[in-house]
Amino acid sequence: MSDDSKKRSKATIAARAGGYIDAGSGGVVPPLQNSTTFVLDLNCDPLFPDNIYGRDQNDQVRLAESVIAELEGAEDSLLFASGMAAISTLFSSLKRGQSLIVQSGMYWGTTAWARDFCRHREVNLIEADSSDTDGFVSLIQTEKPDMVFIEVPSNPWILTSDIEVISKAARSCSAIMAVDATAATPILMQPISLGADFVMHSATKAINGHSDVIAGVLSCADANSDVWAFVKHERHGAGAILSAHSAWMLIRGMRTLPLRLERMCSNAMAIAKFLDRHEKIDAVWYPGIATHQGHKVASRQMPNGFGYLMSFLIKGSREDARNFCRHLTGIHRATSLGGVESLVEHRATVEGELTGCLENLIRLSVGIEDAADLIDEIDTALANI
Ligand code: PLP
Repeated sequence: MSDDSKKRSKATIAARAGGYIDAGSGGVVPPLQNSTTFVLDLNCDPLFPDNIYGRDQNDQVRLAESVIAELEGAEDSLLFASGMAAISTLFSSLKRGQSLIVQSGMYWGTTAWARDFCRHREVNLIEADSSDTDGFVSLIQTEKPDMVFIEVPSNPWILTSDIEVISKAARSCSAIMAVDATAATPILMQPISLGADFVMHSATKAINGHSDVIAGVLSCADANSDVWAFVKHERHGAGAILSAHSAWMLIRGMRTLPLRLERMCSNAMAIAKFLDRHEKIDAVWYPGIATHQGHKVASRQMPNGFGYLMSFLIKGSREDARNFCRHLTGIHRATSLGGVESLVEHRATVEGELTGCLENLIRLSVGIEDAADLIDEIDTALANI
């Protein structure tokens, strides 16, 4: 059996960048082609039909997209200039008078953009708790929306929603079902196999994994759908493309994605268990903890690991939580997630009063450092508040 005819594991797809060999040189790493334009022959026909102008025609971008599509089990994937560019392009497919149901309490940037967009476009926006499966499904059945958008696991509440059940409800009323799976990555969860029409990632996070590329990706279950045609047309026309250099970096980063995820998940699990027993912690939100709201569903949806993102509540005030962050000596106080280095954030400081983020909530993105070092540092910071 040839390599192509059998289903390859994600580790193999990622490590070999989908099996890439450079036709021009035999290189196992793609060359970086920065050209914005490509020559035509004497008849003014392109020498390479897929390469005319670099806005959305670039070999590195296409290669990165094909690797993500294979990891995702998608018919097609498209890269964007950022995660928000991917989300906003998908939302833009909604027409005046249509309706959108989104998960409440998801990434604040998405909520804020959706609210603005829906007001201007006159789209009816409903925000509801998708981790309450029965309530959310019954809302879909009553409202019959045109699109449903959820985030699994959600950021920063780390709620798990049942993608399979919600997708079935969305399908029953012909709504488009989309999932932001940034905190899971295509290694840990494949929403399309669970019934979603679209899956989105901020590739800025773990897919790239080195905190040095801003990128977003949308993947689809049906490359012939009208919405996918719209998404392609919109990216081409509005131009929210990824640069060749960023795509090249993404390909390099993705080669170690499964390996990084293994370490990040085991580190996160060890930290979550440690925090769960700690006297200065009120609650730990991590789907790997048996008492977590979504543990049962997450065990089914993410059988190979519960991800790298967690939140926890410090016993005490806003100032106690901020003091905890101050006393960390190696874990960086910085926004974002999914990098090889652990990052911590007092989200209420960032989000302000608008979002209802709890004052004692700490969000931790767990990296690939040594687990004992991370726990030691967290323990010392807790002892100092
Ligand atoms: N989705 C989630 C879950 C995120 O955490 C973020 C950014 O933090 C985004 C989307 C937006 O991604 P980007 O910053 O790449 O635009």
